[in-house]
Amino acid sequence: MKGVKKKRWNRLLRFRCTGCAVCCTEPIVPVTNRDVARIVKSNGQTAQQVVRFFSPDEVMADQRFPLWISLRQGKRLMGLRKRRGHCQYLYRGRCRVYAYRPVTCRLFPFNIFFDSTGHVEILEISDAVECDYALDGKITLGAVRTLYSRDEKQDETYFAKVKRWNAQRPNGTAKEFLAFLGFKEDTQ
Ligand code: SF4
Ligand code: SF4
Repeated sequence: MKGVKKKRWNRLLRFRCTGCAVCCTEPIVPVTNRDVARIVKSNGQTAQQVVRFFSPDEVMADQRFPLWISLRQGKRLMGLRKRRGHCQYLYRGRCRVYAYRPVTCRLFPFNIFFDSTGHVEILEISDAVECDYALDGKITLGAVRTLYSRDEKQDETYFAKVKRWNAQRPNGTAKEFLAFLGFKEDTQ
């Protein structure tokens, strides 16, 4: 059975992104404090200019998801601010913060699952958007794995911060939440 599954996803190791930019247009990209800090450092924007706080009406995500922040106006999810219907960093089909982009963008479009011994059981293409990929490239499982662990670690730290905020300051503002994350310039 394991062999069959592996055979099924092995072809994805020939993945090549065609740069169609659908993943930079349609979805709301959730970010963590680390992702925001990287972009702020790279281009001098304030955290408020990098992110927007999206309501449950705007995001298709489980409301029990640990990304939801309790704010005065209700539950919100911190994501990359959009402009003209796409991510604000998408310019002429390219990412203007490519070297500093969120880990989610780096890992997309892969979903990866492990078995109880830590071996990759399933590698699949996310169905979050219609990814127009080609299969004439080359990626390594090691690279996807490394990104996945980085994503997981970053998420863990951020979720713990959100949990703390939700317990201590559920009626705070978005500005105060950013200050809580350490973006002091946003309180001025
Ligand atoms: S940060 Fe870059 S890669 Fe990520 S959604 Fe925006 S334009 Fe696309
Ligand atoms: S949707 Fe897929 S092919 Fe298109 S830019 Fe994103 S990763 Fe690349």
